Amino acid sequence: MITTDVLIIGAGAAGLMCAAQAGYRGKSVVVVDMGKKPARKILISGGGRSNFTNENATPENYLCQNPHFVKSALSRYSSQDFIDLVDRHGLQYHHKTLGQLFCDNSAQDLVDILMTECEWAGVQVNLRSEVLSVEKPADTEQGFVVKTTEQSYQCKSLVVASGGLTMPKLGATPIGYKIAEQFDLNVLETLAALVPFTLHDHDKQRFDGLSGISLFTEVTSEDGTKFKENILFTHRGLSGPAILQISSFWRAGQAVTINLLPEHNLTETLNQWQKEQGEKSVKNLLSTILPKRFVDVLVKEGVIADKPVKQLNHPEINVLGEYLHAWKISPNGTEGYRTAEVTLGGVNTDELSSKTFESKKQPGLFFIGEVIDVTGWLGGYNFQFCWASGFACGQAV
Ligand SMILES: Cc1cc2nc3c(=O)[nH]c(=O)nc-3n(C[C@H](O)[C@H](O)[C@H](O)COP(=O)(O)OP(=O)(O)OC[C@H]3O[C@@H](n4cnc5c(N)ncnc54)[C@H](O)[C@@H]3O)c2cc1C
Repeated sequence: MITTDVLIIGAGAAGLMCAAQAGYRGKSVVVVDMGKKPARKILISGGGRSNFTNENATPENYLCQNPHFVKSALSRYSSQDFIDLVDRHGLQYHHKTLGQLFCDNSAQDLVDILMTECEWAGVQVNLRSEVLSVEKPADTEQGFVVKTTEQSYQCKSLVVASGGLTMPKLGATPIGYKIAEQFDLNVLETLAALVPFTLHDHDKQRFDGLSGISLFTEVTSEDGTKFKENILFTHRGLSGPAILQISSFWRAGQAVTINLLPEHNLTETLNQWQKEQGEKSVKNLLSTILPKRFVDVLVKEGVIADKPVKQLNHPEINVLGEYLHAWKISPNGTEGYRTAEVTLGGVNTDELSSKTFESKKQPGLFFIGEVIDVTGWLGGYNFQFCWASGFACGQAV
């Protein structure tokens, strides 16, 4: 049996950040992870370049049953704090749109930084160690016994940073939720989020051949949440940043409304075309502002009249404008945890201190990162919450 002050389950973003902070405070820290490598999700994130934070991260960018919960941690460890950390290590990175920061070379550079921090802080990271059980022996006032496939550990503080359920191939397991339930903590229903939509067969047939087409849109969910970003037709359905974002707000059976021309007022544009280019066909003119293959589908369905634009009457102009500015689509479902970026729901934040992430019911037991009911938007917000919750917890264990 190995004895340590702090045992952390999960060598992901949250676990490694927490480990280094606790180690710098002089605690003995062991991190266990079932993977062969640490931080496998960081390595694949952002297409291999990891969108590791967002400069504009605020509590409004997170979904959580208690919207105030994230405020404390985010204010005590901001995206600038993380940028300062990677700057000290000389990470090469660049700014993309909407405040998103990505590594220039590879996400491995970021993992190297976290592992260096852990090394400097004297943290031991034990890989290929799957957690089998957690117990709280009756004869000890404090402390936990954790059995892994390799070792047993006794620790004063146990930090669960085991992530959500997405990408089971990368070692996602429900262990964190099980530990929470074992200690009588409430766990909210989980759902795949930041995930592509699948379509009903009739829509799949309609859009067969559009795979690969990307267009700038504004997508709105039934609760009125809006995102202005690209959508992408895939061979299974719809993806792209706007769809991934809205998937977190979508529930089975609901429709989403897509403004296909968010930068235009189509009624005005059609009126102008009637005056200036009346002989040209509606189809050809619309193909200058929408992908041609998509226009062809709408012509085939009779939504777009195949005639000169001057022949459109006012009601036809209004109907076309309404259709393209509020295109309704009812997804069949999502691609699920297999391809989702994050898990909605998880350990109920009412059970945890927002300052330390310690369980209110079970002293010494902490939950950080994706395992808890905090889900960020697409764009580096999820990692920022991992850094912030890991940092806060690392000061408290
Ligand atoms: C394809 C993809 C791309 C993404 N891109 C971005 C991005 O660019 N920006 C962003 O902010 N977010 C991104 N995310 C989301 C982000 O990766 C997660 O929110 C984040 O990794 C969660 O970190 P975590 O430390 O909480 O958990 P994880 O990173 O999931 O780490 C949990 C660790 O626990 C280990 N573990 C689980 N069960 C056990 C067990 N029983 N025993 C031992 N170990 C166990 C796992 O092996 C894992 O290493 C992406 C996610 C995916 C899937």
